[in-house]
Amino acid sequence: MIIQTDKEIDLYKKAGGIAGLVLEQVMKLVEPGISTKDLDNYAEDLILQKGGIPTFKGYREFPATLCTSINEEVVHGIPSKKRILKEGDIVSIDIGVTLKEEIDGKIRNFIGDTAVTVPCGEISAKLNNLLRDTQKSLYAGIAQARAGANLDAIGGAIEDIANKAAYGLVREYGGHGIGKNLHEEPFIFNYRTNSKIKLKEGMVIAIEPMFNEGGDRVRTKSDGWTVVTQDYKFSAHFEHSLLITQTAAIVLTKRPSEDINE
Ligand code: MG
Repeated sequence: MIIQTDKEIDLYKKAGGIAGLVLEQVMKLVEPGISTKDLDNYAEDLILQKGGIPTFKGYREFPATLCTSINEEVVHGIPSKKRILKEGDIVSIDIGVTLKEEIDGKIRNFIGDTAVTVPCGEISAKLNNLLRDTQKSLYAGIAQARAGANLDAIGGAIEDIANKAAYGLVREYGGHGIGKNLHEEPFIFNYRTNSKIKLKEGMVIAIEPMFNEGGDRVRTKSDGWTVVTQDYKFSAHFEHSLLITQTAAIVLTKRPSEDINE
């Protein structure tokens, strides 16, 4: 889907802004002893208070507002009262916010989708590097995103950072277009595929690299959602939603205190 009007762009910025703001608030709550359900309840209340709708809740029957994926969990972890964060954990927090607005007589969805992986208390230097490098690869992908850019420019920038530190690069999941639905074409690979697809001005996409400290293989647990590394080594995930312009990508889901150039 291509967006063109200033009103549409403003609505994407508003949805993304709520997602970034709520995510930043949730990040501040991460500490030993809090459950992932506590994080989820807080996020849902704040999204609703800001006039948004939790995008993930009910999406393909997903039961929660956040995906919370701890340690060896890669993505799509389900928040639970029984999952209490402890010192040394890392947790990926993924959030989607939808605004429903009437445009030319039709109700339309405007979605912002963003994720970070954060430490709970003190973590090892090695894990700190995993988080730092995964985020760095997201920013490197964003730096390549503009109208006319081939998808391999994004995937290649991410893949190069994973390879340099010999991380396992998750290939089964990746970024996506955003439009009427949360996941639309094109699929944004986190590696080179000899792609013929070029980004167009007005596209909204999400880039979301996932790096593992061990091997690249993942599997889905019996809950049907939670993706884990096959070797149970830890995994990190970062994501932003972007609007593609002629010269660059505008980060729609930037958090209030995030420095994209860090
Ligand atoms: Mg996404």
